[in-house]
Amino acid sequence: MSSTTENYLKKIFAASESSDKELVGLGELAQALSVTPGTVTTMMKSLSEAGLVDYRPRAGVALTARGRREALNVVRRHRLIELFLVEVLELDWADVHEEAEVLEHAISDRLLNRIDEILGYPASDPHGDPIPDSRGRLPGPVGTTLADVTAPATVRIVRVEHHEESGFLDFLKEAGLVPGTQITLVERNRAAGTVLVEADETPRAVSLQVARKLRVEVVKPGRK
Ligand SMILES: [Zn+2]
Repeated sequence: MSSTTENYLKKIFAASESSDKELVGLGELAQALSVTPGTVTTMMKSLSEAGLVDYRPRAGVALTARGRREALNVVRRHRLIELFLVEVLELDWADVHEEAEVLEHAISDRLLNRIDEILGYPASDPHGDPIPDSRGRLPGPVGTTLADVTAPATVRIVRVEHHEESGFLDFLKEAGLVPGTQITLVERNRAAGTVLVEADETPRAVSLQVARKLRVEVVKPGRK
């Protein structure tokens, strides 16, 4: 399968995961892939002929069962590679996404399974994104976004969504807002559009925009 095909499947998968609509719009896809709508239409016709997508002209597109399996396989490679680069090669978590975007298309199954084994069959990547297992099973979303939690509460960060921008990840690391960390959500300030959190005893105001990208599990509602 070509890397272009793999990237299309991955984007359709990501778009359908982040919405509850049945079909992904072609305009949305064109924007996500930075290509023209015409290019997407041509590609959808050929992916449809290959049995990877269900393409309904003017309505949108969905992955077929086979397309979803292939997409999950790319997602699995991407996330395992990211974890390998952080855990074994000790790269910064802000730098691994770009590398994984390239390597995910090149790595053999044998090498990937060895990485999986060396890492002890991990459940999530450095950003907390779940890793599909070798049979293509993906655990459902965990927790809720920090923006949706009622303050005050003690929460544990489990996942960073939309981690493509390395500057955002640099900020989170510096602020101590990384998966696995327990923080206190002190209060929410609707007027300012911020939430006040406390990580390592240090209070910090975080915008709701950032809070929406952090998935957390509530450890304990109320104050400590
Ligand atoms: Zn990534």
